[in-house]
Amino acid sequence: MINNENIYYISTRSKDGKKYTSAEVIKNGLADDGGLFVPEHIPTITYEDIDAMRSMTYAERAARVLGMFLTDYDSDELLCAANSAYSAEHFGEHPAPLCMLCGNVGVLELWHGPTAAFKDMALQIMPRLLSLSLGKTDEKRDALILVATSGDTGKAALEGFSGVDRTKIHVFYPSDGVSDMQKRQMATTVGDNVRVTAVRGNFDDCQSGVKKIFSDTDAAKQLSQKGVFLSSANSINFGRLAPQIVYYISAYCDLLEGGMIQRGDKIDITVPTGNFGNIFAAFIAKKMGLPVGRLVCASNKNHILTDFMETGVYDRNREFYATTSPSMDILISSNLERLLYFVAGTEKTREYMHSLATCGRFEVDETIMQKIRSDFVAAYADEEQCVSVIADIFDQFNYLCDTHTAVAMHCANKYKNGNTVMLVASTASPYKFAPAVLSALGSNGFDGYEALVKLHELTGAEIPSCLCDVMSKQIRFKDVIDPSEMQATVIG
Ligand SMILES: *Cc1c(COP(=O)(O)O)cnc(C)c1O
Repeated sequence: MINNENIYYISTRSKDGKKYTSAEVIKNGLADDGGLFVPEHIPTITYEDIDAMRSMTYAERAARVLGMFLTDYDSDELLCAANSAYSAEHFGEHPAPLCMLCGNVGVLELWHGPTAAFKDMALQIMPRLLSLSLGKTDEKRDALILVATSGDTGKAALEGFSGVDRTKIHVFYPSDGVSDMQKRQMATTVGDNVRVTAVRGNFDDCQSGVKKIFSDTDAAKQLSQKGVFLSSANSINFGRLAPQIVYYISAYCDLLEGGMIQRGDKIDITVPTGNFGNIFAAFIAKKMGLPVGRLVCASNKNHILTDFMETGVYDRNREFYATTSPSMDILISSNLERLLYFVAGTEKTREYMHSLATCGRFEVDETIMQKIRSDFVAAYADEEQCVSVIADIFDQFNYLCDTHTAVAMHCANKYKNGNTVMLVASTASPYKFAPAVLSALGSNGFDGYEALVKLHELTGAEIPSCLCDVMSKQIRFKDVIDPSEMQATVIG
């Protein structure tokens, strides 16, 4: 039955306009034609909706906003999922608190979850949405999530899926490609449905191994006989994007509650960007009707997006830099495809993506760029600018920010506009990148746990308990295998 209030999804590369339900979208992740799922219509949020959310808890706000997009989930299910995901046990008192610096800059701290980085905001709830989608799509098999990780995403996914009904997760990481701290974090994860295996080799070996298993039809058959199908939890799944819309709306409510803005006041938002997921969520919030002026797309030394916003040319044929903000070291910003769909439609999007796949570049014409520039501005911070921002903000406000947040702060400063509140998405705890933050404050040569202790001594900022606890937890997973053994390990 087609209900007018239901939201359906289509692929950004759709030729036939085929529609999918939200449960199908979350279960499938990626469309068959290689495109990304987008809502056919963006639901609107009214002043009354915002007023109603002011007095709600974060979980209640999440259930309300998710309910506007995931229309085949009922409100009780969503509230239950949100309450478990954003519990005090996982996030402390407030999952996404706002810290005001100098009057009109608000730092939206998205790193109070179980792994001290913003991916937790989505990865705590997405597994629960996926689990529910199985019943809704009449799927009899359970989902097995395979992840190849170079560090942080693996741990956030493990924490999110741990203990979630009808799901299992198996994470592979390169034995020499992650820090000791990251290894420890993954190897100590609890839960009957989680597995972690180290692979001899680098990240590419891990990733190719996982891709090979995904594309092997025999493996799929064998797993199917065991009542399991393979799925992924990567950031292009709409189930990871939708929960990110929530915190922008929630922050607006908190700004109203705190008297920093009045009903209807516009705010600007700066987001440190890699895959363009987090900032795209802010764009959707704006399109829903949240009073947002400019969206500042902040990049590091890998500033392919800054160049794109300026010139209309997206060109990945360029040098890749490893920076101190590694989660933004990206030359293919997958979620940009969703923006291209909204400003240019499916046919143009297919052309751009084809050109990107074959030549590593595409060019967007001026009329379409004008549309993009009516919502977005862009800037970047190089490594020196990132360092000096960390030191400046600590000196001026006694506030410690991580390297990714520092990139955003630098870009936000460029676009600060009078009394308009500038919301800055803070994506990681400074302790997550303690050695780099320490060196920005003038203390070099510390690593691992020692760096946490030193940073605490120097600044007094609280160490997130999830990073401390790691040292005392028992190591559960010790297997190290060759890439050739990965498939057998999964099918087992
Ligand atoms: C993933 C990540 C980002 C980039 O977010 P996107 O959604 O990929 O743009 C920024 N900072 C941190 C700490 C991250 O983990």
